Amino acid sequence: MIDLLDKVKENTDSALAEIAAAAERAHRKPEDVSIMAVTKTHPAEYIEAAVKCGIRHIGENRISEGGRKIRLLGKEFAEFHAIGVLHRKEVRQAVRDFHWLDAIHKIEIIEEIARRNASAQILLEINTSGESAKKGFPPDVVLLESILGRAFELQLPVRGFLTVGPLCSDSARQRKAFADLREIRDSLETRLNKSLPELSMGMSDDFTLAVLEGSTIVRLGRRLFGARGN
Ligand SMILES: *Cc1c(COP(=O)(O)O)cnc(C)c1O
Repeated sequence: MIDLLDKVKENTDSALAEIAAAAERAHRKPEDVSIMAVTKTHPAEYIEAAVKCGIRHIGENRISEGGRKIRLLGKEFAEFHAIGVLHRKEVRQAVRDFHWLDAIHKIEIIEEIARRNASAQILLEINTSGESAKKGFPPDVVLLESILGRAFELQLPVRGFLTVGPLCSDSARQRKAFADLREIRDSLETRLNKSLPELSMGMSDDFTLAVLEGSTIVRLGRRLFGARGN
């Protein structure tokens, strides 16, 4: 049996090399891109392995499943991100367990986080591909300006955006979705005079394209841990 830690180390090193090569092509610094290990469906040992490999950001898509692992390891073990749909009734648990809420896509959820006086950092999810199965605010600068205006009025630390690239093998289309989000971010920074530094873009199959277009955090599940058993 291959040791979990050896496998994750090898996969992390090769992903880091690909990130560095893409960053260099885009005249970016490799250290400006972080890996998030997406550990959904896997036991807490996978989080421990990722942290041993130097990964600081951990992503879970279910609040209850992620919360169980976070309480097992302790909240200070890593920087925990909720990357799945967040329902209103889950906000209380999410702000207790997670440091980051990365997939906010409803104004009601923004209001609920503020009502709980939470300190979690926030990313808004944007549906850059327009696929109807995807969650997220539409990539509309005027709409996003008003939503961000409200969030900042409520003093919420919105740090940027998350998107899931189009489900296709057309790399030009995938890359365009990431470029669109970067441009939307740039124009919102100007319009609001606020810094929105984080772009959570890129998964196992498209992370190098995302790095070319300015991703600051790539979300890797299968690439680090192999296929999920579900
Ligand atoms: C599962 C998941 C990932 C990781 O997907 P892989 O293809 O395994 O890298 C990234 N982001 C989100 C939002 C996810 O749900």
